[in-house]
Amino acid sequence: MAKLPCPHCGKEVRALIEGMCENCYFERHPLVSVERCEVLRCKYCGAVYLRGRWLRARSLSDVILKVLGEYGRIAGAVERVEVREREDGADVELAVRGSPHPALQPRELTYRLSLRYVYDICNACREVLSKREAALLQIRATPRALGEVERKKIMSIIEHELFKLRDKNVGFVSEVKELRNGLDVYTTSPKLAQHLAHALRKHFPSSVTVAAKAVGFRGGRRIYHMTYSLHILTYRPGDVIRIGRREAVVVSVGNRFIEVRDVSSGKHELLSTTELLSDSVMLVSGAPES
Ligand SMILES: [Zn+2]
Ligand SMILES: [Zn+2]
Repeated sequence: MAKLPCPHCGKEVRALIEGMCENCYFERHPLVSVERCEVLRCKYCGAVYLRGRWLRARSLSDVILKVLGEYGRIAGAVERVEVREREDGADVELAVRGSPHPALQPRELTYRLSLRYVYDICNACREVLSKREAALLQIRATPRALGEVERKKIMSIIEHELFKLRDKNVGFVSEVKELRNGLDVYTTSPKLAQHLAHALRKHFPSSVTVAAKAVGFRGGRRIYHMTYSLHILTYRPGDVIRIGRREAVVVSVGNRFIEVRDVSSGKHELLSTTELLSDSVMLVSGAPES
């Protein structure tokens, strides 16, 4: 029997299917296709929004299969699903057995796709959110206001911490207010505000203070509103500062200590972030913008 060359790959075959060989047909008619890769996901419980409602499933692969069924097409039987989750989405490896044409024997093929998460809050979490005791994490900077880079760094640290804590049931961030002199981060539990304050503390020259304010009673128990304040020092090398009556130049800035050189004696010393936050320290002249 004469063989025909496949016009796409040149392979000689007995018969062509819709003008191509079997391999080319499988390649051009994938068993898995996805039209939409963006998934709305609850940042607290992981539910996904599908067909107008929030859906929770036992495992991440179940969720992913439901999403793929909704936003795409799987032509065949799913033999294996592997999901690797990232903060902003998931990479999925899917082995599917099927055939794109009645004349073709089914094959098991592996497909890789990526989904991107768009985060929101589901109804159930919103409900819980409104009933919890709240806390506030106040982030303030001195002597300079927080710049764009610092704000972004703060937000990405917070997001990363929330991601790490996602199964720990420590509450949520309910709101972030951008202010001229800093950020106000509202959380649903004091524990979370405290955790975030200390996580940020490690990344910036800063110190944390806490204040409790009684806001009422619930079931005979006094309810406190906790405010954690993170004070970030925004000194830069080259800044001239006044400490009491003497002046010093900032040499280097670390997360716990700032090294300064006394202007008159030339001596170097380390000042703690707490010392630098006291009222007796002020910026005399700033280092030029680098
Ligand atoms: Zn071919
Ligand atoms: Zn939720």
